[in-house]
Amino acid sequence: MKAKIITFPVGLYQCNCSIIYCSETKEAILIDPGSEAEVILKKINDRGLSIKAVIHTHAHLDHFGATHEVSQSTKSEVYLHKDDKQLWDIADLQAEMLGLPKCPHANIDHFIEDSQSFHFGEFKLEAIHTPGHSAGSTCFKIENGDEQLLFSGDTLFKRGVGRTDLPTGDSRVIAKSIKEKLYTLDIDTQVIPGHGPNTIIGEEKKQNPFIKA
Ligand SMILES: [Zn+2]
Ligand SMILES: [Zn+2]
Repeated sequence: MKAKIITFPVGLYQCNCSIIYCSETKEAILIDPGSEAEVILKKINDRGLSIKAVIHTHAHLDHFGATHEVSQSTKSEVYLHKDDKQLWDIADLQAEMLGLPKCPHANIDHFIEDSQSFHFGEFKLEAIHTPGHSAGSTCFKIENGDEQLLFSGDTLFKRGVGRTDLPTGDSRVIAKSIKEKLYTLDIDTQVIPGHGPNTIIGEEKKQNPFIKA
């Protein structure tokens, strides 16, 4: 059996929000509810899912603008890497800078640790701390039947990498994270980035113009 995955872009910046779930137990994990709480809640409720955790690839506001509303409504707990807490806490300033609406402040219930597992049904998602786009940027990987999947946030895109000119960003650090922690994954690993189309680790190792394997 495989976990089911729904990915859809939300908000002005079209952040890819994902819901991954076990169709038998209906347990689910929500990744990056960036905006459009009603749309996200409808997808959850239509399928009768119970959200075990709301997890974030990082604390840019386009990735957590709907976190408060969705976590309240689904009574679920919120997770973020501790190194992004300072960005999380300046959500209002980010809203001004990014031209996004201000949103109610969501509390962080737990800090994500490197290698931490999130369980749902018989499946698990594992955190990989990949600083560089921001200090607390985190990817999540899952072994799903015969497939490996990676949610790469704004660290790795199809033929691109995350910008490093924002607070706590660092171009050397992101290069190290991608080379040492992502390019070492199975080459067939499918990648679901924080924005834009999916890709495959093996393709990026060969063709990514910014970071070579
Ligand atoms: Zn970002
Ligand atoms: Zn983003």
